[in-house]
Amino acid sequence: MNKLKVAWYWCASCGGCEESFVDLSEELVEFFESADLVFCPVATDFKKEDVERLPDASVDVALINGGIRLSEHEEMVKLLRRKSKIVVAYGTCSSWGGIPGLSNLYNKEEILRAKYLDPPSINNPTHAVPAERTRLTKLGANLELPAFLDSLLPLNAVIDVDYYIPGCPPTPEVFKNALKALISEKLPPKGSIIGASDKSLCDECPLNSTKPEKILLKELKRPHETIADAKKCLLTQGLLCLGPVTRGGCGALCIKAAMQCTGCFGPLDGIADYGGKAISFIGTIMDYSPAEEEELERAYSKIKDWVGVVYKYTLPASKLGGRVRREKTKRQEEAEIDE
Ligand code: SF4
Ligand code: SF4
Ligand code: SF4
Repeated sequence: MNKLKVAWYWCASCGGCEESFVDLSEELVEFFESADLVFCPVATDFKKEDVERLPDASVDVALINGGIRLSEHEEMVKLLRRKSKIVVAYGTCSSWGGIPGLSNLYNKEEILRAKYLDPPSINNPTHAVPAERTRLTKLGANLELPAFLDSLLPLNAVIDVDYYIPGCPPTPEVFKNALKALISEKLPPKGSIIGASDKSLCDECPLNSTKPEKILLKELKRPHETIADAKKCLLTQGLLCLGPVTRGGCGALCIKAAMQCTGCFGPLDGIADYGGKAISFIGTIMDYSPAEEEELERAYSKIKDWVGVVYKYTLPASKLGGRVRREKTKRQEEAEIDE
């Protein structure tokens, strides 16, 4: 059997997706029996030139994780697209933008300011922030860095993507299922999710039998406000479990730890905007009549960060994209007045 030639590249990643490869544990041996890693900068010293030297379409599968945040990411994924027969968005960041995609609530200047200028723990007397070109006078050299793009993009906003493996990060089980499909070449239609379930998380949740057909809530609770009964559907206890609108496949990991699902496996098939679906679902379970608008608003105001709840993993791929902006914090306003 010819071994699958696999390239693995990371874009704006926390490193968790790469860890998930190691999580295959002893099954890594199986992986290497059926596949060769022809490019994997996180593990070995591969360079861009190594990929450039490969003939076009000579890589069987490119697994790409992390969102697109730098010009370097854009350049590399375009190169990998040319060199690969199949491109797979690996993990939630690559598929929909993931948690780093919440940075789209701010513009570039606000992000750089929050990182390099505002933090009280930073000593930056020259107010230096990374720039594409910096003259290093003492060394007599120029330092060039990749450009920081205006917003974070999911992979399919930059290149054509064949398949998606969801999860933040994907679990070993999901990765194994996806690998099996890729190795056996028994693949669903282009654009499909591979490795995970087609059903909602509730379907595989061990608490499903305690979930009534119709849930009606008067109050929403944040996790620190209650000690959850680990034997009872968390949503019925007022905790915003997004299991009903989230794709299954993780084995209900968070629920087993008495934490509500925050939606890292993303939307079910046919749902274009995860956050929109989540918010409309929440609307259906709030037990208030049209005459009780004020009480309903009070109940909603318990959740301090609605975008962070319903778009935690999918903001860049949502209909809102990067068009939502946070109001400036008091600290930012004060800093502007000081200038
Ligand atoms: S999907 Fe999750 S684990 Fe993977 S890079 Fe993004 S934040 Fe990290
Ligand atoms: S709502 Fe959450 S806790 Fe309840 S059955 Fe679904 S996944 Fe499980
Ligand atoms: S329970 Fe939800 S948030 Fe937790 S791993 Fe599964 S899909 Fe992700």
